Amino acid sequence: MKELSDIGLVGLAVMGENLVLNMESKGFTVTAYNRSYSKVEKFLSGRAAGKNIRGAQSVEELVSSLAKPRKIMLMVKAGQVVDDFIEQLIPHLDKGDIIIDGGNSHFPDSDRRTAYLAEKGLHYIGSGVSGGEEGALKGPSIMPGGAKEAWPAVKDIFQGISAKVADENGDLTVPCCDWVGDGGAGHFVKMVHNGIEYGDMQLICEAYQLMKTVLGLSADEIHEVFKEWNETELDSYLIEITRDIFAYKDEDGEPLVEKILDTAGQKGTGKWTGIVALDLGVPLTLIAESVFARCISSKKDERVEASQVIEGPKVEFTGDKKAFIEDLRQALLASKMTSYAQGYVLMHEAAKEYNWDLNYGGIALMWRGGCIIRSAFLGKIKEAYDNNPALNNLLLDPYFKGSVESAQAGWRRVVGTAIANGVPAPCLSAALTYFDGFRTARLPANLLQAQRDYFGAHTYERTDKPRGEFFHTNWTGRG
Ligand code: NAP
Repeated sequence: MKELSDIGLVGLAVMGENLVLNMESKGFTVTAYNRSYSKVEKFLSGRAAGKNIRGAQSVEELVSSLAKPRKIMLMVKAGQVVDDFIEQLIPHLDKGDIIIDGGNSHFPDSDRRTAYLAEKGLHYIGSGVSGGEEGALKGPSIMPGGAKEAWPAVKDIFQGISAKVADENGDLTVPCCDWVGDGGAGHFVKMVHNGIEYGDMQLICEAYQLMKTVLGLSADEIHEVFKEWNETELDSYLIEITRDIFAYKDEDGEPLVEKILDTAGQKGTGKWTGIVALDLGVPLTLIAESVFARCISSKKDERVEASQVIEGPKVEFTGDKKAFIEDLRQALLASKMTSYAQGYVLMHEAAKEYNWDLNYGGIALMWRGGCIIRSAFLGKIKEAYDNNPALNNLLLDPYFKGSVESAQAGWRRVVGTAIANGVPAPCLSAALTYFDGFRTARLPANLLQAQRDYFGAHTYERTDKPRGEFFHTNWTGRG
């Protein structure tokens, strides 16, 4: 083992342990530290036995075991715990040392911490890490931001352990990790990733509900549909695991998925994405609806009660099932494209607001492998930004525009069928509504402005006068 470790990792829970093992497997020596030392001992005598991994019993021991500039990665519970641990570390560090937070921190916290540590001559990296337990061990998607001066010191480790996707020769050499931007940019991009994940998952759930409720398909039949879809442009990790979920049988031979209570949990990153979108005035409708869909799902008792007293339409389907499944595939694809378009608009607006120089194609590449939203489709986003780095809405890229245009007839039939049959499809329909709003030159906001001016003298601009000139009308003629 090297005399000094290349990096220290704090927090031996699911993510931390696996990241340490991943780093070690790529040739790095790691010092592991955890608040309760018993976990370190268990790790050293178990999964870490015989590997280039040393344990530390104290913060002092952790710091003194590291090569300079010291690199210490925190994989602890997000929030105050991170601030508290930073305070514990500071007295032991020297100028130029680097603290990395790889947990799910909110980006304003990473912004604040980067500035705070810079004042002390220390570097801070707030990094999104996605891919769960398996990703952490075999190759996650890593989205680092913060103090750029620190990037060269951690680049080899981060890109070494990250997932890899194929280069132009088909060799798995392209790392799903690159520098994202200043301050909280890394955690911002991770937050948008999680928001997109919420949207992708809800879209798949809506397709399932339509297949089950309107078409009356069995779990085995739905399994077959997802299996086929995974061979198309929808090819992705989430479609793949959905395919497998529908094939999974409980002990009695019945599909397990149908026995799971329909109340969705959430940890908050989707909500954060929605809040930031509202703050920045970005119509991130699909992700917002996906968060609300989880909220309404959690009101199980109220829903059961309402279902017994409120009548909806009788479900009726007389069309061609096969054709509807293809419509559904098109609707899913077009909605997904719209969701990514919205997510990218959010990143554009945030980059302006926070002065980040985001590499949009690079972000698609970071999400291309290792993370929950990994999919073939992200390669198309990379291409779109390679072709036009100034692209301000993905729906204007020729590939996306063409795909959504050709999907829209089926998409409209699906949303119409859902509405006619009383089956909720909040994300499929929110995406279509955004698409129609985005491609409509004149919306009814002229009336809205008239209403605002009527009751609040908020003024309006006129189509027959230059922009920036404001008018007020005395709508009632009263003084
Ligand atoms: P976790 O359950 O979020 O956190 C447990 C770790 O935090 C333990 O090492 C624990 O130490 C430490 N900790 C908790 N309170 C502490 C305190 N007051 N002072 C010092 N240490 C404290 O672990 P995780 O699931 O591995 O996640 C780690 C981070 O990665 C989190 O921010 C999480 O949101 C993020 N993340 C998780 C996943 C995932 O799939 N799990 C995926 C991506 C990102 P003790 O052992 O002493 O309690």
